[in-house]
Amino acid sequence: MARLYRCGECGLRFPNPALARQCASWCRTHRSCNLELLRQAV
Ligand SMILES: [Zn+2]
Repeated sequence: MARLYRCGECGLRFPNPALARQCASWCRTHRSCNLELLRQAV
C-alpha cells in the first residue's frame, strides 16, 4: 500500500507530500477547499 500524505488542516490525503503541503497552505489562507487539489486527493 502506498504511503499517503495528509493535509494537517483539512485531513485530505494525497499521494505525495508536495500536494499535502500545497493543500495545507491553501486551507490555512483560504479556509476552503481548492478544487484542483481536491481532484488529486485520494
Ligand atoms: Zn487541506
